Amino acid sequence: MVFEEITVKKALNKLNSNFLPYKYDLNIYRGCSHRCQYCYALYSHKYLETANFFEKIYIKTNIGEALEKELSSKRWKQEWINLGGVTDSYQAIERQYKLMPRILELMIKYKTPITISTKSDLILRDIDLLEKLAKVTTVNVAVTITTWGGKIQQKLEPGAISSQRRMEVLKQLKGKGINLGLHLMPIVPYLNSDEENLENILREAGKIKVDYVIAGLLNLRSETRRNFLKFIQENFPELSDKYFREYKGAYWEKEKRREVYFLVHKLMKKYGLNNNYEKFRPKEIIREQLSLI
Ligand code: SF4
Repeated sequence: MVFEEITVKKALNKLNSNFLPYKYDLNIYRGCSHRCQYCYALYSHKYLETANFFEKIYIKTNIGEALEKELSSKRWKQEWINLGGVTDSYQAIERQYKLMPRILELMIKYKTPITISTKSDLILRDIDLLEKLAKVTTVNVAVTITTWGGKIQQKLEPGAISSQRRMEVLKQLKGKGINLGLHLMPIVPYLNSDEENLENILREAGKIKVDYVIAGLLNLRSETRRNFLKFIQENFPELSDKYFREYKGAYWEKEKRREVYFLVHKLMKKYGLNNNYEKFRPKEIIREQLSLI
């Protein structure tokens, strides 16, 4: 794996989506060492000198300075920031560079609400800062779990820690004023879409009483499609024909999608879970929305 330090002029990336609840994305790295075979962020390396998202990681060493310039501006309205839209902020290299504590200190200073999603237990290093931030604004932490252990999880997410350890992260963050989420995504047809796998994950999330669950099936577009179908051909050749047949476009066949979402819904109900992410929008944003009604 190759690492390259870079500097940036801006830290925040403004999003223009009506679907996403947050207005800005902040990525302290480019590339990601978790190497998830279904990674939706592969496109983000497309215009760089290397297309290898998993093998070349760029480190934005001055990200704290750049961020402070933006957050200290009179124009900054404490809008909701998503940390790590196209990388994991707590991937292995963060252990060495320690960029996140500075980012969280700035969020505390400028009372800025955030969402972090991660597959790493390194987030526990910053538990005190997250708790402090949760005292002044909204903090959502979601852990992504797709496969309840075993060889399939290791093949799908070879650079990430076990799913059990990820669930432990949620347990340790409980009771700190942080809204806790489970990202059950992507659900990958024939690899982790079975009832046993989904139930194992949702049962554990139910025990912790996570605040929300977002579930989503695998979508296959552009770079992700090429990478994932190659992975299937090499590792699960017996599924290859099915994938080509059932994924004509980006989405799996409609009836099959419906069945899986029905199953997830049934299991969420069984374990007292909900998908009410809207409830955890920062209060500042809800106030702004109410004022527009
Ligand atoms: S953690 Fe996210 S960004 Fe990193 S490889 Fe996995 S899917 Fe891609």
